[in-house]
Amino acid sequence: MDTRAGAAEVGCRPEITKVPPGEPLGTCDPPDPRGMWPDITSLLSPLATGFARKTFISYSVTFGDSFRQGEVVGIDPARQRVLLSDGEELHYSHLILATGSDGPFPGKFNQVIDMESAIQTYEDMVKEIEKSERILVVGGGAAGVEMAAEIKTEYPAKEVTLIHSKVVLADVELLHSVRQEAKEILLRKGVRLLLGERVSDVESLTPNRFQKDTVVRTEKGTEVVVDMVVLCTGIKINSSAYAAAFGDRLASNSALKVNKHLQLEGYENIYAIGDCADLKEPKMAYHAGLHANVAVTNIINSLTHKPLKTYKPGKVICFPVGTAVKCAHIGTVTVGQVNGYYVGRLLVTIAKSRDLFVSKSWKTMGQTMPS
Ligand SMILES: Cc1cc2nc3c(=O)[nH]c(=O)nc-3n(C[C@H](O)[C@H](O)[C@H](O)COP(=O)(O)OP(=O)(O)OC[C@H]3O[C@@H](n4cnc5c(N)ncnc54)[C@H](O)[C@@H]3O)c2cc1C
Repeated sequence: MDTRAGAAEVGCRPEITKVPPGEPLGTCDPPDPRGMWPDITSLLSPLATGFARKTFISYSVTFGDSFRQGEVVGIDPARQRVLLSDGEELHYSHLILATGSDGPFPGKFNQVIDMESAIQTYEDMVKEIEKSERILVVGGGAAGVEMAAEIKTEYPAKEVTLIHSKVVLADVELLHSVRQEAKEILLRKGVRLLLGERVSDVESLTPNRFQKDTVVRTEKGTEVVVDMVVLCTGIKINSSAYAAAFGDRLASNSALKVNKHLQLEGYENIYAIGDCADLKEPKMAYHAGLHANVAVTNIINSLTHKPLKTYKPGKVICFPVGTAVKCAHIGTVTVGQVNGYYVGRLLVTIAKSRDLFVSKSWKTMGQTMPS
């Protein structure tokens, strides 16, 4: 079985080739088929047949013997050891924690199955979406906004409704003008928005399946009749690997507190990057890649007695609100902000593209993307 890599791990790859000779390298992932840009691509995978296959990149092909597939269940910083679920212990001189976050499928893929079955899961969802005339997306954070926009972009004739418990869409770290623009784009695309409404009894819904005439009710009594429900709620930081070891260094969302060099507070040889680092910026693959660059550069600099690099959070934020999958990388509609200032849609349309991310990641991992 092969695995897919997290965004931060892919970002580390070009940098670790610069580590001085003689320094052993290792990367560790759980025995599941999750992958490179899992969240970005996972929203497109259920929309277009054949796309999911492009989102799985073999880790072992890239890293060879430096890759160890396994689940980290604990860390012993005093002995500089990482503990795996099968009982094995791995020694480290430097440790980068990039355990990311988890949530419901299709935004995240958290099943432990082989790669072909994982691809099939996405392909099955494409069929369910194709059968459904009316689709409800629950949750209007970044994932829900994207999901609703992607479905409506790919299938303009379908009736798409987005229910969000708050009045304003998307991440709180984004400028109000960016969040407002995202809302306007959704409305222009024809997505029906029910804001300030919470779905009652979400647990009783069967998501990602065609179920004609499903009645969904909100706590305010609004009823929506749909053929399919997609949940985009409850993304949580994966902290199981480190929570016991670093419980006193966790932010309220279980992310790890880091200094300006991305070192875990109180440790010079442990770094936290990607979604599991507590930084004042939206959780984005783009940022995870920047963190990876800083962390690996700092490991090299610390070994070669050079000053450490500083990370400045959240300078550029692109927020996608709909991609035309079939149009390669020119179909993305994105809003964004640079250094805290709102930038118009056109500027960032060029900067952000799923297809571009995917092909770039294959290149970064030193492999050829399947056609
Ligand atoms: C629906 C959705 C859409 C998104 N769209 C965009 C977008 O368009 N642009 C953008 O820039 N960002 C986007 N993001 C955010 C982006 O995907 C994340 O910020 C990014 O994936 C974080 O990378 P990461 O490497 O920190 O974590 P992840 O990508 O979550 O990877 C973490 C890895 O660590 C592994 N792991 C976890 N625990 C353990 C353990 N105990 N032992 C071993 N391995 C472990 C996981 O299996 C996984 O492979 C989106 C997110 C979502 C949910």
